[in-house]
Amino acid sequence: MFKVDFAFGIALYLGSVLCIISIFWMFGEKETKVLAGPNEKKEFIWQCEICTYTYVDSKNFSISRCPRCGSYNERK
Ligand SMILES: [Zn+2]
Repeated sequence: MFKVDFAFGIALYLGSVLCIISIFWMFGEKETKVLAGPNEKKEFIWQCEICTYTYVDSKNFSISRCPRCGSYNERK
């Protein structure tokens, strides 16, 4: 009787440890995805210094031209 309970206890212990590890792993992966998402998009968002128009330009990284007033904006 004791042996069966002991084996069951070990199985339960290992199962719970694996569950906790997988839960932490899933949460960790979610956090990195959430952190990577907005940062990637922010790099493409520009705000014109002349007319304060906000637009998305994913092609240019250092200098971008405002589609509304045509002035050039430098990445700060
Ligand atoms: Zn502008």
